[in-house]
Amino acid sequence: MKKQRALLIIKPDGVQRGLIGKIVSRFEQVGLKIIGLKFEWANKEKIIAHYPETDAWFAKVGQRTLTNYAKKGLDAKKVFNTDKDVEIGKIVKSWLVDYMQESPVFLAVVEGYDAIEIVRKLSGNTIPVLANPGTIRGDFSHDTIDLANEQNRPLRNIIHASDTVEDGEKEVNLWFKEDELFDYKLAGEKFMYSLK
Ligand code: ATP
Ligand code: MG
Repeated sequence: MKKQRALLIIKPDGVQRGLIGKIVSRFEQVGLKIIGLKFEWANKEKIIAHYPETDAWFAKVGQRTLTNYAKKGLDAKKVFNTDKDVEIGKIVKSWLVDYMQESPVFLAVVEGYDAIEIVRKLSGNTIPVLANPGTIRGDFSHDTIDLANEQNRPLRNIIHASDTVEDGEKEVNLWFKEDELFDYKLAGEKFMYSLK
């Protein structure tokens, strides 16, 4: 069985609230191996390249707003001048470019079996009010879509975590050079995986 790699980004709200240590320790304590760590003040091009540019991704992001607005009886047109999911997704991406440059971000690459599912589980639902207690977003944030959209900004949800194996590879290659990643054995691996 092959190990997977996931990129984690502690977003500006996580960095500014002094949560780096607490968040990194959650991935360490579950047994994932940290193979890269660094701080970076990202530029616009990097953030545009990081978040997908596909209609499928824009639609997913826009649908989040539309579902939440429908639940609360709000009109997306008032904020976005459109109720088309792809168009809303594109506007949210433009907000992400500003948000992710508000301060340096903290980056980590973690490796392990089923690492992608594990980092998503530990991060919790994208929408903080729906993220379960015990998850990073559930424990450290409480932002809502309608407040965020009304203020023309994305949800402040502390962390990014790769959500597919392919995205994990792509994102690790975007943010890290080969010589910033470390191939080594952790003492605990012998006990976690009964390796000889
Ligand atoms: P991330 O990619 O940051 O790990 P995610 O995979 O859970 O988050 P995506 O759908 O990739 O969620 O959205 C990227 C980020 O864009 C979210 O983490 C959030 O900050 C913001 N976002 C997504 N949808 C909305 C929305 N409808 N309104 C405001 N912000 C949003
Ligand atoms: Mg995502």
